[in-house]
Amino acid sequence: MLTGAGISTESGIPDFRSATGIWAEVDPLEVASIRAFHRDPERVWRFYAQRIHVLREAEPNAGHYALAELERRGLVRAVVTQNIDTLHTRAGSGDVVEVHGSIRSAQCLACLWTEPADTVLAQLEERPVPVCPHCGAPLKPGVVLFGELLPAGALERATELVRMAGLVLVVGSSLEVWPVAGLPLEARAFAIVNQGPTALDDEALLKVDAPAGETLAAVVEALG
Ligand SMILES: [Zn+2]
Repeated sequence: MLTGAGISTESGIPDFRSATGIWAEVDPLEVASIRAFHRDPERVWRFYAQRIHVLREAEPNAGHYALAELERRGLVRAVVTQNIDTLHTRAGSGDVVEVHGSIRSAQCLACLWTEPADTVLAQLEERPVPVCPHCGAPLKPGVVLFGELLPAGALERATELVRMAGLVLVVGSSLEVWPVAGLPLEARAFAIVNQGPTALDDEALLKVDAPAGETLAAVVEALG
């Protein structure tokens, strides 16, 4: 299972690349790149503080719950997600590989300390940039910023899962952001559920052009 922003739009979370997406409003290189973080961490944190609040208010939708149910039934091995919103975990999925990190924590680039979101948000009430409790360096949001490498091990684990799978189901991703966009090509076979075209429609075993929630809920129902 490979999921992208499209599975969370039904939870009221805007995607990034569509006409109404987040990157239509702000330039990602100004607010979500590692270069911006080094140049102006305050601006990056203004953007992420707001994102973290929005994402923590959102609730998992029928698509997230359907995937958790399919995992309980032994039909889904793991969920590899590009999403940082933690909604798969909150819906009950057990094995979630967050290849772009998450809002669960922030990181210190100096001593590699990981600070949980609750204390980061408490710090943000007091100061514009939260700092590492151990060494005092500015903390970085726990999400992968533009220009950063993916978390160590996450892409390796995702690739291994995809190669092992009998079928990879891609949900809610237009498969535009590398290296994750290349993962389905490592699979024996893959199917896509996405509203709108994806970069790999022609290679897919099956393409369903429909919202993730109703489609996955229908799959669970059809299985009885
Ligand atoms: Zn530190």
